[in-house]
Amino acid sequence: MQPDCSQGFVLDGYPRTLRQAEALEVFAPVDVALYLWAPKNVVIERICGRRVCPRCGAIYHVKWKPPRREGVCDICGAHLIRRIDDRPEVVEKRFKDHLISIKPILQFYGKLKKLLRVDAVEDAKIMIPKVIKLLEEMLVEPLACSD
Ligand SMILES: [Zn+2]
Repeated sequence: MQPDCSQGFVLDGYPRTLRQAEALEVFAPVDVALYLWAPKNVVIERICGRRVCPRCGAIYHVKWKPPRREGVCDICGAHLIRRIDDRPEVVEKRFKDHLISIKPILQFYGKLKKLLRVDAVEDAKIMIPKVIKLLEEMLVEPLACSD
């Protein structure tokens, strides 16, 4: 184990299958499985508003982090694009597929009493302290944040 993981670690977006969850539980049992949930319309708004710079990789959002000039990267001046994966019809399908694939994983962690489902509709500024507080309530030791 790396020294930066000695106090614990977060796996973001993993496990993605029941089989992975079961395997993880054998070699590195999780303390909490955090499930950040938002309704479809919120997810679609968040993802479909995302714009990326094909040149420097900067990420924007039309509502929450717009570039100074519409459609133009603040950093390098390139024309911003919406990735194919971020188009509404693709996001809608991904959302549906996600609900199907996540269900057995949620049931797995639910049975182990390790599932923490949080409604993540609010802004990150509100959500982050809320999630830290909830995690601290589930964990014995307070969390040490790196930033
Ligand atoms: Zn750029």
